[in-house]
Amino acid sequence: MSEAESPPVLSRREFIETAGLALAGVVLDSPVEGGEPITDIHQHLGYSGRPDDVLLAHQRAMGATTTILLPAGRSVNTPSTHDGVSNGLQAQCLGNEPCRQFARAHSGAFRFGANEVPDVEGATREIERYLKLGGVVIAEQKFGVECDSPEMQRIFELAQAYRVPVLMHWQFQMYNYGFERFHKMLEKFHRVNFLGHAQTWWGHIDRNHIDQTVMYPKGPVTRGGLTDRYLSDYPNMFGDLSAGSGLNALTRDEEFARDFIKRHQDKLIYGSDCNDLDGTKCQGAQTIAAIRRLAPNKAIERKLLHGNAKKLFRL
Ligand SMILES: [Zn+2]
Ligand SMILES: [Zn+2]
Repeated sequence: MSEAESPPVLSRREFIETAGLALAGVVLDSPVEGGEPITDIHQHLGYSGRPDDVLLAHQRAMGATTTILLPAGRSVNTPSTHDGVSNGLQAQCLGNEPCRQFARAHSGAFRFGANEVPDVEGATREIERYLKLGGVVIAEQKFGVECDSPEMQRIFELAQAYRVPVLMHWQFQMYNYGFERFHKMLEKFHRVNFLGHAQTWWGHIDRNHIDQTVMYPKGPVTRGGLTDRYLSDYPNMFGDLSAGSGLNALTRDEEFARDFIKRHQDKLIYGSDCNDLDGTKCQGAQTIAAIRRLAPNKAIERKLLHGNAKKLFRL
């Protein structure tokens, strides 16, 4: 049984915090429009320079009641950051400490992850520090390293010890090399839950995803792709629907998407990864609309927008 399947139990401390917030007029899982909580598992602080108040307004406009902030690692010039190109997750995103502080200042609505460039000195020590402070995921792992390298395996060991998922940005020849070998890690670290994200992850829903350099493939999907098989064959593999790549995977072949959502209804999780200033017509809002349109029923829609995240991140 994976960690994600264990029912969430409120600790005494969490109960007191929840009760305290309720007294203060802040209700967790508070209904926005339509009375339904939405968890956005993929956001960033300082994203492309976006001010904090605009992020707050963006999340409110989308209807996100809980948001997980994914930090960048430290800024270094190494091959794993492509000599600094991928510092700040290639989008000016802020690191562990600002994310932790922001989540603390907006507790109830925001949580944070823990992150570091995997091959710098003291990487696991830094990640562990922020897991101890309450980080709910190791993310966003978006670095130029082999997905099964010794440093990545040390991160997976840490995730196992702290019972948190690891979120990986898969992008051909850029981030997390060796997608076709990842099943070995899913087997070796079968107690660690992994989230797949980005172009190469979503491209591989299609069995005919031959040209790996195509980042946003269009048109009909042929069943039996590597991503589909990872989701089917490994209970510890989950899909993060965020970003243009996630939205593209839902909209390029809606007949396939309906069936895909039905088959992986316990594995797919909403995230926005939006860097815009709006929150109403943007890609994150469109992904929520696509989930509502394509989910075969209300119960499955609720799993993708909230229930699966609540379980997986033990929120
Ligand atoms: Zn991201
Ligand atoms: Zn947006």
